[in-house]
Amino acid sequence: MSESYSVLHPFSFMPNLKHKTEEDISKEFTYIKEGMGSWVFDKEGKNYFYATTAVPSVGLGNPRIINAMTNQFHKLSFSSTCGQMHELLQPLTKKLIELTDNQFSLAFYTNDGSGAVETAIKLTRQYFNELNQKEKSCFISLDGNYHGTTIASGSVTNMGIKEAFGVQIPGCFSAPFPNMLRPPIDGTEDEIVDFCLQQLINTIEKVGPEKTAAILVEPVQGVNGIIPANKRYLKEVEKIAKANNILLIADEVTTGLGRTGYWTASQYYGIEPDLLTISKGLTGGYFPMGVTFMTEKIENVLLKEGGIFLHGATQCGHPVGCAAALELISIIEEDNLLKNARDIGQYIKTRLKISLQDIPNVAEIRGLGMMISIELADKQTREPINFKDGEILSKKLKTQGILGNYFNSILLLYPPLNTSLLDADFVIDNVTKAFKNVFK
Ligand code: PMP
Repeated sequence: MSESYSVLHPFSFMPNLKHKTEEDISKEFTYIKEGMGSWVFDKEGKNYFYATTAVPSVGLGNPRIINAMTNQFHKLSFSSTCGQMHELLQPLTKKLIELTDNQFSLAFYTNDGSGAVETAIKLTRQYFNELNQKEKSCFISLDGNYHGTTIASGSVTNMGIKEAFGVQIPGCFSAPFPNMLRPPIDGTEDEIVDFCLQQLINTIEKVGPEKTAAILVEPVQGVNGIIPANKRYLKEVEKIAKANNILLIADEVTTGLGRTGYWTASQYYGIEPDLLTISKGLTGGYFPMGVTFMTEKIENVLLKEGGIFLHGATQCGHPVGCAAALELISIIEEDNLLKNARDIGQYIKTRLKISLQDIPNVAEIRGLGMMISIELADKQTREPINFKDGEILSKKLKTQGILGNYFNSILLLYPPLNTSLLDADFVIDNVTKAFKNVFK
């Protein structure tokens, strides 16, 4: 007797499951059975280069991380961090603070990226509350930003997702992001940046600087299509925030800890946010974990005479997650993986630009470090390609052994930071074959 499938998957179109078995669903979804390094294997043993998400920064099954975690499991498999501490919390935090140029003085651990953004939002609110500026409670985030799934992090997400859930937290506003392929106005890059900056200033004026608490930026928009922000734009946003006593939150849940070829994208962009979130690359997928950093300015208000942050998850700061993060950082340092991410990322991008140059539907190839995207659209009209072609391409990529993330006519590729030249060539050759097959 066949049993119907009973899992509701996140962000995945689900058919009516009443008469669908696990077998039926596995024909639509990729059934991943095993994984090692940059590769995963399905039920039939077919291998795929795993570039779907920014999480596996050093690939899967890394023996050094597994050993560090196993040792920690034996030593202390859990301890709360609520009024308790364990021996890895301070070393990990010190290391992370050092890697982020000592800009921050405190770290708060969470279980995921949404939790890290939620924490940044609450810290912002508490910061201004304690300064007796309770009315400073509004947030401005940019069009196309993705910040998470909780109600607050979802309220500052501008991707047509929150509308499914009705009323959001009040006081969330948006301003245009300088997306150069789909700019809010026609013009040169400088004109588009100036326009977006002016719109941000107008939004602050509309909301009122005395009510605007923070601006949230994703230095490289991830979910929206791997779109690196213009450098001048971000530097100016930082200045605008400072001039108006508004906190700057850099959401680096995806970009943080090496993904862009820098420990943080903020370092690449030369900005110094007041709060910064990291999650996916923190443990590289070996343990669900996130972190929110805050500067001394915030610490000084929050803890001026001692204080309490009435927020936190029961299992945050988990010792096994800390062990994974510490080992992962050592690997990135010892194997010089930031440089590898910069060099191999650039290599993949450059070669794809050449190999796909004759395909009329490839409108832009962009990215930073090991975040690479290919946007499909009519080169002249910039109209996205039709859905059917996208579906065929997505399937073809799988046949060619590439698991990327195809969404809204954009292929997102997140190769691990330690991708070898040989694997990079595999990605380039097989992405090219899939595109040529579908579009020629
Ligand atoms: N912020 C950004 C920039 C993200 O890309 C994501 C995840 N896609 C999140 C927040 C939410 O992280 P999580 O899915 O771990 O909750």
